[in-house]
Amino acid sequence: MVVTAHPDDAEFGVAGTVARWTREGKEVVYIVCTNGDKGTTDRSLGAEELANIREREQRAAAKVLGVREVVFLYHPDQSLEETPAFRKEIVRLIRIYRPTIVATSDPYRRYLWHRDHRITGQVVLDAVFPLARDHLAYPDLLAEGLEPHKVQEILFWGTEDVNYRSDITRTFDLKVAALRCHESQMREFANPHVEKWLRERCVKMAEGESFDLAEAFHRLELPH
Ligand SMILES: [Zn+2]
Repeated sequence: MVVTAHPDDAEFGVAGTVARWTREGKEVVYIVCTNGDKGTTDRSLGAEELANIREREQRAAAKVLGVREVVFLYHPDQSLEETPAFRKEIVRLIRIYRPTIVATSDPYRRYLWHRDHRITGQVVLDAVFPLARDHLAYPDLLAEGLEPHKVQEILFWGTEDVNYRSDITRTFDLKVAALRCHESQMREFANPHVEKWLRERCVKMAEGESFDLAEAFHRLELPH
């Protein structure tokens, strides 16, 4: 399960790994918390129109990667707060989809980090542990038949504390192709040579490994 604040976060953070997983036959679901309706400098584009474009782009990118399902929570961009309601929303999805691995943005990256990324990461971490795990948390979810679930590991992208480098040498091209689906965002991107920039980043992330290209994470294994 990949939980992102915005459409396109997953493609920057984890898409090469997602493509590898789906090639290995694993099932991947995306949870996209906001509709991304603030992500433009184009004054002619209304928020609703932008949200529609970004949903289409995200669904196209997910298709390139072989993602089984994309769930939009449709919160407005820049509006996420660490609330009991948001936590419960994520717990519900964890109990429905019962993922082995959850990937999301690192909440503990310092200084310049979109607050939606920080809040999503924090809420996902708390939802995984302990809230999705404990049967006495949310008796109403239990009454609906949503049994507790233990996630085995969390991968945080955008981390300052890398302890896991995932080999994306064979799926880097799919990461680039998926990223290119986000046309509205690629237009806004400061560097026109996206593929070159991305390759250099992924080479750097693979430093010290036997493979060429990586996505880097802080990997957290949960107690059994
Ligand atoms: Zn984002």
